[in-house]
Amino acid sequence: MITRMSRLFLRTLRDDPADAEVPSHKLLVRAGYIRRHAPGIYSWLPLGLKVLRNIENVVREEMDGIGAQEISFPALLPREPYEKSNRWTEYGDDLFRLKDRKKADYLLGPTHEEMFALAVKDLYSSYKDFPVTLYQVQTKYRDEARPRAGIMRGREFIMKDSYSFDMDDEGLDSSYQLHRGAYQRIFDRLGLEYVICSATSGAMGGSASEEFLAVSPSGEDTFVRSTASDYAANVEAVITPAPPAEPIEGKPEAVVHETPDATTIEALVEWANSEEAGLGREVTGADTLKCVMVAIRQPGGEWELTGIGVPGDREVDMKRVEAGLAPAEVRLLEDKDFAKNPFLVKGYIGPRGLAANDVPLYVDPRVVEGTAWITGADEANRHVVDLVVGRDFHPAGTIEAAEVREGDAAPDGEGTLTLQRGIEIGHIFQLGRKYTEAFEVDILDVNGKRSRPTMGSYGIGVSRLVAVVAEQLHDDRGLRWPASVAPFQAHVVIANKDAEAAAAAEKLAEELDAAGVTVLFDDRPKVSPGVKFKDSELLGMPVVVVVGRGFADGKVELRDRMGGETAEIDYDGAVDAVLKLVK
Ligand code: ATP
Ligand code: MG
Repeated sequence: MITRMSRLFLRTLRDDPADAEVPSHKLLVRAGYIRRHAPGIYSWLPLGLKVLRNIENVVREEMDGIGAQEISFPALLPREPYEKSNRWTEYGDDLFRLKDRKKADYLLGPTHEEMFALAVKDLYSSYKDFPVTLYQVQTKYRDEARPRAGIMRGREFIMKDSYSFDMDDEGLDSSYQLHRGAYQRIFDRLGLEYVICSATSGAMGGSASEEFLAVSPSGEDTFVRSTASDYAANVEAVITPAPPAEPIEGKPEAVVHETPDATTIEALVEWANSEEAGLGREVTGADTLKCVMVAIRQPGGEWELTGIGVPGDREVDMKRVEAGLAPAEVRLLEDKDFAKNPFLVKGYIGPRGLAANDVPLYVDPRVVEGTAWITGADEANRHVVDLVVGRDFHPAGTIEAAEVREGDAAPDGEGTLTLQRGIEIGHIFQLGRKYTEAFEVDILDVNGKRSRPTMGSYGIGVSRLVAVVAEQLHDDRGLRWPASVAPFQAHVVIANKDAEAAAAAEKLAEELDAAGVTVLFDDRPKVSPGVKFKDSELLGMPVVVVVGRGFADGKVELRDRMGGETAEIDYDGAVDAVLKLVK
């Protein structure tokens, strides 16, 4: 069937929507693919819905390809399962909660681990039934604090979520690898540039978790990438290579100096390089040790004072600290904490004062044995020079707390790091037994003993992908869809008033359709060629065929929107030429 622009439910807009900042949002609204109703809530118009369905199908094909079976859960769910997993509370303000007429609590599902674990518990009881992987392509609800960029971060959105169930860790590992491969094939088919980032450093015994990030300056996530290898990671997961330890023997003695008003690293470095200090060497911020105070609380425990020591030329990145200490909570100290602990002299906190008061100090991995530091001497207006690790102080351990910077050495030893931005398009995660324990999913193992399966949880932002493809592939004239997801593969435009030319365009559209090419046909009678061309660029089908002036000589124009070239070709060869570009 040919879709005629004269009948298509579409109005393109000349102006960008006022609330749009990123190109994909502007273009999808202007080109009539989506419409906004409230923050983060959009409807799909005919063209947008076609892209969405095409992406869903790519996802389905690859999920089916690894043996996953599609089911579908409701979005409207009772409270009990989420109460049991503690997510009714844990999810916080992101969860849409509502009541039915009997005042019973319900929620709109933000993700469905609970429901899948319960389904497997209900239907399966023997190890012989495993492994099993189930998935759905379904609407999710999250009351995001900052809905953003149109459908990129919606409050109602479509996710493919799948869950694998295996009896042992090796099984989980292989389910995880199958998903990883399927995700690569999906994102390759969509023509995306992406990286696979390890999401956690694994330092806290976390299991494998990786995020797929589409590279884009509009992304909210910062990741690092090596200049020399395919190493990529979330900033939170970057492990700082430690320099070799240095011999302590022969290091000068630690000496306390008067350093009036040197409460900043800058002032301290200026003092250290002054004649008055008389250190006789060039000092930079990297030679100083900054002790930042935090309070840490383990689950169910008390807040405990802790020091974090980083080279003075770097800030502490709290996101890295939080990721490294999870599930413990961390907060910076407030004035009242300092008031309660007078030994903490702001601006002059040092390792020796912390040790004397039994406060543990965790340090950056660069602070290795034998290195000498300029740091606080625990009294106002005093710093100590040449405080040596392993001689004058003994850190409680290391912590990945320092900010990661462009040019830092890559953890794999190859090249340096560059920082880039990305959009999370997928996440694969070895979840383990959290939900099968919570719901007592008891399965009889080979020995007839009760055992609980281990789960993997895997998500793809299907509706977000519509925006991500648009974001990566658009140009300044409009959208540009790869044939694998375009609403139509070919766009035939009549740009000639002559009735014979119009009939020929119609015939070409029919022949393309018969050859299995999906066709959008711009047959609008009273619209100028200029407007039609602009619309064809904005709408972004991969191939545009214009039946225009040249038709008198048997010629049509073939515009390759993806490749960017335009060629005049014979009308008779047009079907073959289009097929070559889209198949
Ligand atoms: P983000 O960090 O972007 O909030 P998330 O960690 O909350 O993502 P998951 O819970 O792992 O995401 O969900 C799986 C996938 O669903 C994500 O990788 C992302 O592509 C997509 N997704 C998550 N939240 C949204 C949203 N609000 N709108 C559209 N897609 C989303
Ligand atoms: Mg989120």
